[in-house]
Amino acid sequence: MQHEPKDITILGAGPTGLFALFYAGMRGVSAQIIDALSEPGGQLTALYPEKYIFDVAGFPRVLAKDLVAGQLEQAKQFGAPMHFDQRVVSLEEDGGTFTLVTETDRFPTRAIVIAAGIGAFSPRRLPQPCAEPWYGKGIHDRVLDPERFRGKQVLIIGGGDSAFDWAHQLLDRASSVTLAHRSDRFRAHAATVEEIRAACAEGRARMLTFHELHDITGNGENLSGVVLKDIKAKTTVAMNCDAILPMLGFVSDLGTMAEWGLNLEKDEILVNSAMETGRQGIWAAGDITTYPGKLKLIATGYSEAAIAVNQAVHWIYPEKKVNPGHSSHMAVFGVKEEASV
Ligand SMILES: Cc1cc2nc3c(=O)[nH]c(=O)nc-3n(C[C@H](O)[C@H](O)[C@H](O)COP(=O)(O)OP(=O)(O)OC[C@H]3O[C@@H](n4cnc5c(N)ncnc54)[C@H](O)[C@@H]3O)c2cc1C
Repeated sequence: MQHEPKDITILGAGPTGLFALFYAGMRGVSAQIIDALSEPGGQLTALYPEKYIFDVAGFPRVLAKDLVAGQLEQAKQFGAPMHFDQRVVSLEEDGGTFTLVTETDRFPTRAIVIAAGIGAFSPRRLPQPCAEPWYGKGIHDRVLDPERFRGKQVLIIGGGDSAFDWAHQLLDRASSVTLAHRSDRFRAHAATVEEIRAACAEGRARMLTFHELHDITGNGENLSGVVLKDIKAKTTVAMNCDAILPMLGFVSDLGTMAEWGLNLEKDEILVNSAMETGRQGIWAAGDITTYPGKLKLIATGYSEAAIAVNQAVHWIYPEKKVNPGHSSHMAVFGVKEEASV
């Protein structure tokens, strides 16, 4: 399917892309957003919808899914189309018009803002062959609804933030929580690690360091137990288990973006202070970008989105200034234009 040409197309509907879509609407240009996932929100929706975020300005704390809902409402107000389940696989350019191509559709556009986060991402899978048949049955590498684990005997594998955060969130829901990690060094916030250690001391959780998955038992449909191997002592331990949550980080895939003529540094797009990517007409923002001092945070992505969109607007329509002015004075929101004080 061939879509209507737009001024700006935003690749990626995570928090950065949603804010970019809003900004394009506020600046009065036509826009659209494309995402490979079936819902907006990027990492917030796919990886931690039920977690609280504490460092987004204006919210002392906000559930990831609620932040996405608010951003969606903000982004939708200018009626720009949102296209989900559309993974961008290539880019074409013809006579000053780009076309982003997915497996089924074509999206012509004058400018592009890439807000593709860590690329089209997928959770890193357990390396043990015994795990593979259990994905989607007893192994869950994403927790969309923690209530699903109420009363279950849960094994979490990993030593990073996600492993410890989910251990913490499931403490009062699961009937038992065991956290197994290959080493005794953790990449999680020290405070969360301490909370889990305290829960272990109270008998509410169990932490097994230097342990990895060795085998899984069950009837083929329902998982009933696991065997863990102590990689130092070379011994094994069997335990009852209803659900395994591998929290091993993510494998990101830039896909063909690596061939789009952008300035790349490893798997990231190297941008300057105007969010330029090295290819005219294409800007980038959010987790996909890098530069000295870069912070991969939601707050950073918002600012970068505003810079990228304002640059793109001025590039497409040179008569429109880069500086958007203050939204609090804008007629587009029904506010009567007033002289600024
Ligand atoms: C567990 C966890 C907790 C976190 N907690 C916090 C926190 O408390 N505070 C904070 O500031 N940050 C936090 N972060 C980081 C934060 O989520 C990211 O900085 C943020 O999501 C980046 O937003 P983004 O829009 O740039 O990218 P993403 O959220 O990654 O969104 C990118 C989107 O682009 C899409 N995409 C990629 N490639 C393609 C393609 N080829 N075609 C179509 N679509 C594509 C993806 O599907 C995705 O939806 C946390 C991250 C994790 C994993």
